[in-house]
Amino acid sequence: MLSEVISKPRSGRRPAPNLADYERTRAEFSWERVAQTLSGLPGGRGTNIAYEAVDRHAAGARAGHLALRWLGRNGARRDFTYRELAELTNRFASVLRQLGIGSGSRVFVLAGRIPELYVSVLGALKNRCVACPLFSAFGPEPIHTRLSLGGGAVLVTTESLYRRKIAGLRERLPQLRYVLVVSEGGEIPLTPGVLDFGRLMASASPWFRIPPTDPEDAALLHFTSGTTGRPKGAIHVHGAVLAHYVTGQLALDLHPEDVFWCTADPGWVTGTSYGIISPLTNGVTSIVDEGDFDTERWYAILGRERVSVWYTAPTAVRMMMKAGAEAARRHEFPDLRFIASVGEPLNPQAVLWGTQAFGLPIHDNWWQTETGGIMIANFAAMDIRPGSMGRPLPGIEAAIVRRSGAGRIEVVAEPGVEGELALKPGWPSMFRGYLNDEERYRKCFAGGWYLTGDLAKRDGDGYFWFVGRADDVIKSSGHLIGPFEVESALMEHPAVAEAGVIGKPDPVQFETVKAFVSLKRGFDPGEALRRELLGFARKRLGAAVAPKEIDFLPSLPRTRSGKIMRRLLKVRELGLPEGDTSTLEASP
Ligand code: AMP
Repeated sequence: MLSEVISKPRSGRRPAPNLADYERTRAEFSWERVAQTLSGLPGGRGTNIAYEAVDRHAAGARAGHLALRWLGRNGARRDFTYRELAELTNRFASVLRQLGIGSGSRVFVLAGRIPELYVSVLGALKNRCVACPLFSAFGPEPIHTRLSLGGGAVLVTTESLYRRKIAGLRERLPQLRYVLVVSEGGEIPLTPGVLDFGRLMASASPWFRIPPTDPEDAALLHFTSGTTGRPKGAIHVHGAVLAHYVTGQLALDLHPEDVFWCTADPGWVTGTSYGIISPLTNGVTSIVDEGDFDTERWYAILGRERVSVWYTAPTAVRMMMKAGAEAARRHEFPDLRFIASVGEPLNPQAVLWGTQAFGLPIHDNWWQTETGGIMIANFAAMDIRPGSMGRPLPGIEAAIVRRSGAGRIEVVAEPGVEGELALKPGWPSMFRGYLNDEERYRKCFAGGWYLTGDLAKRDGDGYFWFVGRADDVIKSSGHLIGPFEVESALMEHPAVAEAGVIGKPDPVQFETVKAFVSLKRGFDPGEALRRELLGFARKRLGAAVAPKEIDFLPSLPRTRSGKIMRRLLKVRELGLPEGDTSTLEASP
């Protein structure tokens, strides 16, 4: 039996938590006061994320402080102080200006976790462009969909990604004016519009004056997925930096001398909000590891780089658990004092495993692309309830609600009752829209609440507990995957008549993508075709999104209105009762 709470012993290596008294901090909190602790652009010219993250420090006492420490896949390392980062991001902003890329233009970045990614995102923000980092493990189809939906004017990428994923798409991307290619030592195929990133940077001005930036100006575009339709581009504004900043202090307990490591890739919102903006606005040192997950590598980084605050994901924790706590005990983590995780439910065993492996529990927290920053958290000063996501951040009002028809919302006051998790709009990092999709945006709000699409419960002490998703989106290794995008790719294969995609529970990755397909006349199910379809999907979608399993069915269950009933596919897969099937179309 797991104990209900984990009380945390106070140890000498911990500074006093930023949030020591939850009730009091909540009562005294105001976003206006947070705004006053940031600088704003000199001369009252507004709020720009990159100024708060970089230039503010570069102009002051922290100029020489280490901002980013980059660890290359193969052992290389590069350090960037705030001063150096200010100069590099100025250069990239100058490059954009020189190319005639103006404010509001969308600058995409498709790269692994290399320094140029961080410089491009921050430089684009300086030039008031909208930055959109894409996950480099996406295949050509998800990349094309996002670049074309987002109207990308510039894409920063690497030589190898350009060759493998972009060159073949250029003709289908008429709005894409420039591709800036980061050299990897080979020849960059310089065709019209394809330019050498390094050369442009070398000749660009190291001076750049950030133009006036309204806090409501669009800054970031993050694609996320729903049950149906194309990916949704959630728009965030420069004013969101208030939330990035203060949640770093309150939920991640960042202190000025911390070495912080967020393991998320900036292709997902956590990797941008907390892999770039939050640590920098707080003036701490941020570790960026280019390498993929590897238990030994990660333990070595935590120890050698003297990481003090570590923000990671449940899948990674469960993979480390598989290697056993002894593997952790072979290393020393002299400075590690706070561990947090996000993205999927963190099982109570994982919270406790933290205490065995590191002498520290793991603090679960909750948020999503649309919220832009952490909304609910287990805080450093509070006892953890293993399995709970924690309590709402100061400045955030969360509730469990029920939709009671005609757009009416009923707040569930009783503890322990399941309902939809809702948030009171108004925090600075709330998304301001889905790109070109006003209707979908409006549907997220009702009765004065933002409806998150997650099912949860609240206990008598105000802790929130995740129950599941209210829709069909899939969470695999912390990455949100839209079933529709996978189904659409499968449907492009000449043998596939219909496709239905579900998240199949997985002990490590939380869910894996599983597809069910029925075949067109003239095609027969079999191992060869299954393998062909798996390969076909992988090539188009990339390994992170493609199904791991495909089953053949004579036909897929549909509602009378023709929608594939993924819910039914899932319960059948799990051998669970089918529940209400009254809307099921009669079999032909
Ligand atoms: P994304 O927008 O890709 O960041 O995914 C957000 C979704 O991930 C949320 O709506 C939840 O369904 C899930 N999620 C995030 N954090 C947690 C958590 N701590 N526990 C359970 N689910 C989570």
